[in-house]
Amino acid sequence: MKIEEIAFAVTLDAQRRVIRDAAVVIDGQRITHVGKSDELRGVEAERVIDARGGVLLPAFVNGHMHISYAHAVRGLFPDDFVGQQRLREVFRLQSAMTEEEEYWTSLLAIIELLRSGTVTLVDPGSTKFVDACMQVYADAGCRVVTGECVTDQEVDLALPRYPTDEAVQRTSAFVQKYDGRLEGRVRAWAMPFSADTCSWELLHGCKAVADEHGTWMTVHHSGGSTQGLMEHGALGANVLLAHAAGIDDTEVGLIARAGATVVVCPSTTMKEASGLGTRKVPELLGQGVAVGLGADSANSSNYLDGVRMVNAAALGFKDGRRDVGALSAEAALEMATLVGARSVGLDGEIGSIEVGKKADLVLFETRRAEWRGLMDPVNNLVYAADGRSVRCVLADGRVVVDEGQVVFADEAAVADRVQGIGEGLLARVGGRVNRGRWPMS
Ligand SMILES: [Zn+2]
Repeated sequence: MKIEEIAFAVTLDAQRRVIRDAAVVIDGQRITHVGKSDELRGVEAERVIDARGGVLLPAFVNGHMHISYAHAVRGLFPDDFVGQQRLREVFRLQSAMTEEEEYWTSLLAIIELLRSGTVTLVDPGSTKFVDACMQVYADAGCRVVTGECVTDQEVDLALPRYPTDEAVQRTSAFVQKYDGRLEGRVRAWAMPFSADTCSWELLHGCKAVADEHGTWMTVHHSGGSTQGLMEHGALGANVLLAHAAGIDDTEVGLIARAGATVVVCPSTTMKEASGLGTRKVPELLGQGVAVGLGADSANSSNYLDGVRMVNAAALGFKDGRRDVGALSAEAALEMATLVGARSVGLDGEIGSIEVGKKADLVLFETRRAEWRGLMDPVNNLVYAADGRSVRCVLADGRVVVDEGQVVFADEAAVADRVQGIGEGLLARVGGRVNRGRWPMS
């Protein structure tokens, strides 16, 4: 396949080249040529996409994306329904999902992710019926990091809890069963929930499983437990810490020395008024830590749009720090592409437009009001556009979004079905919050 006459290819290569009038050639799953359209005129391809007026980027990486139940009852929680009370409701609804329901809600989530430019996601263990959802990943062609959420401590949340040994064994069995599926597009990681819900023994056991099988671990992380993770052998270069809320400068240093990575969810953090500006992201990046971006969930963030996620980071850190230099448009975009790929250990395969890399690409249509005038594609993408201008998405070399529509499902039909699932779920288990503050008739 060949994409030619690209107005701007934002490569994210080592020189961060932005190539005008570019062409990219793909053979199978991989990129074989990147250059000027004129130079690659002689390279033939079975399918040619005329990308006039287009901006091409590496597809986005979403490093923390709970799917499962969320689309069924999106927007149910009012904006002041946060913290532990929200989490209790999240896990109560999630644990009530049936296999068929989770299939459809996950399909809708994947449609939303792909259609707004995200190909890779890390689902931190929220999927209950992995085999059913594996069919979604197969059909959609996305790249997914999955795992089984485990805990071994008694807490006030409907999280899956097991004796420590069993939790480690389940983690190991999951990794062995699923890692490398779908031609390598599926990675299976250890996914203990957090240091508050797991013993040190379990966290250590999960990290050992990741080490043994050459895979990774992700864990919800907050300040005060970094030292503990390190002392118990649960911090290392294959550990992705989610949120890292409330960590101090000493912990930034520990994370950097361990070679661990971090993912933050700017839209959730700002929506919950938990202080994005206080997050140590500029400091972590300054010490060379790969920090990626996540959209968290359709019922916490509540959007999955990769462009809006980057925009939230670029705006949120500037305002939070009262410093226009806190996080540039380019740095925010790196967090969703190359640096994001590094934060999940996939930068050897994806995250930039370079010869040899897998063709996970997103093409934006810029002959639209919000994209013009177009002088600097990075500035316009981060500050003016959103995912609705995505024209085409390639995942592993395959077109999965064409002319703005997913090719593997009927979005409207899936949306209707998920609406019914949400109504059914609330009728079955009851919502503990009202839908909306205004009277609904
Ligand atoms: Zn999470």
